[in-house]
Amino acid sequence: MSDVAKPEELAKIDHKPPLWKGWMYTPAEIKEGIACYGANPKNLQVVDFPNQREWSPFDEDWKLPENWKEIILEGLRERIDRFRSLKIFMDICVRCGACADKCHFFIGGGDPKNMPVMRAELLRSVYRREFTIAGKLLGPIAGARKLEIDVLKEWWSYFFQCTECRRCSLFCPYGIDTAEITIIGRELLNLMGLNTDWIAAPVANCYRTGNHLGIQPHAYKDMLDFFVDEIEEVTGVRVEPSFNRKGAEVLFITPSGDVFADPGTYTCMGYMILFHYLKDLGLDITWSTYASEGGNFGYFTSHEMAKRLNAKMYAEAKRLGVKWILGGECGHMWRVINQYMDTFNGPADFLEEPVSPITGTRFENARSTKMVHIMEFTADLIKHNKLKLDPSRNDNLKVTFHDSCNTARGMGIFEEPRYVIKNVCNHFYEMPENTIREQTFCCGSGAGLNAGENMELRMRGGLPRANAVKHVHEKYGVNMLACICAIDRAVLPTLMEYWVPEVNVTGVHEMVANALILDGEKERTMNLRSEPLPGYEEEEEDV
Ligand code: SF4
Ligand code: SF4
Repeated sequence: MSDVAKPEELAKIDHKPPLWKGWMYTPAEIKEGIACYGANPKNLQVVDFPNQREWSPFDEDWKLPENWKEIILEGLRERIDRFRSLKIFMDICVRCGACADKCHFFIGGGDPKNMPVMRAELLRSVYRREFTIAGKLLGPIAGARKLEIDVLKEWWSYFFQCTECRRCSLFCPYGIDTAEITIIGRELLNLMGLNTDWIAAPVANCYRTGNHLGIQPHAYKDMLDFFVDEIEEVTGVRVEPSFNRKGAEVLFITPSGDVFADPGTYTCMGYMILFHYLKDLGLDITWSTYASEGGNFGYFTSHEMAKRLNAKMYAEAKRLGVKWILGGECGHMWRVINQYMDTFNGPADFLEEPVSPITGTRFENARSTKMVHIMEFTADLIKHNKLKLDPSRNDNLKVTFHDSCNTARGMGIFEEPRYVIKNVCNHFYEMPENTIREQTFCCGSGAGLNAGENMELRMRGGLPRANAVKHVHEKYGVNMLACICAIDRAVLPTLMEYWVPEVNVTGVHEMVANALILDGEKERTMNLRSEPLPGYEEEEEDV
């Protein structure tokens, strides 16, 4: 972070069109602070990906096989045949420019190749040259160009400057989804072993141990046992999570970020408290130390890798003999479940259509995937008056809500988190309309861009989101940004610290658990962060 310019410097953004010699003839500049490091060969080896070698995107020589062009073009041909959407997206853009100013990376950085239309054009130009008659005959006049090494480097640079957030697609009159183009672009790059290590390492870890961080099952359990002690300290109640229990009705899976990184850890404690509360009401739930990751960095690599990682959750559900799966607060995990699971590994017919054992609500939207988002589950509990809540315990918070791109645009979860927050907090304020719900701005670090070495890119890409938070901070005194995505919980604290340091970040279930009144609890004086609850500040000072 110390290498990133001060916010006042970064906020000076030049959106004027450059005096180009033409975008096709301006090679990408692969810069420190913007680019991620290249994939380590040992991580490619674990999942048997090609072209395993030491390389750096900052080097001239990327150590590609001699026939790299043929491999890429054959890969593109195969995908054009397989994905009808890709073929359509390659053919129908009319360059109207409606998407041009909708990408947070263009807004926050001013690089014209971060305009969605341009990002797509990087691939489309090669498609035209290789697969259309006009492109073959007319070349650059028809917007076509040959695949050369500079083109490949440009793909790498800009497909790893897209968080696959789909905001641009919302504004395209033809529904062109640049995220889909990025996904294919990254897939082609992976045919050459050209991943970033921040994506390749979690993929390899998840493949080996079941979670992105490479945590062994016993260490996963140790961490949750530690939370049991922490929860007892705050509430006086000892919760008893169960692990790998065959015959449980429900399997719970959450991103490993919730188990190992603040402030996700408080959200994790929130789940544990909620499940304890619901035990007497009929919830029979188990955690798994093997399917210990809800996130799926395979999705940021290739469809095939996403499918391989997605399969483990369902294999574990089958092994344990549960009826259905409850999933934690995550973003891209839900995009994969909601949009891809059925064609990847589904339908999961060996499971049952999820029914809440407490309210009897049938989650028909999960009829095929058999997996329910915890935000829907908890909103349903509150609607049926099943939770005793004291929202005043969150009175020190003035909360706003960041819609994760994936839960919002990827599956339409807009109202449930707001409903839950309004029931557990007394002070809630929305950010401006064109920055929330479907139009939400990305955190700037999704789709595997949450590395440390690309911090300038992340701070630039997160500027539009941070700007909206700053607005509600200045207008209403908002001091807490709630979210329902593990990547958001990991990256928004850094973004806030940079642009709006007065605002903190929380998961929604942390606030739920703070408000939840447990049977047998001691007088609650602290929240899950061991900070004094409203009204107990002086007591804390005396201690
Ligand atoms: S809005 Fe759609 S059609 Fe218009 S330039 Fe962007 S991608 Fe092309
Ligand atoms: S998907 Fe998101 S990050 Fe990618 S080009 Fe569109 S708006 Fe930008």
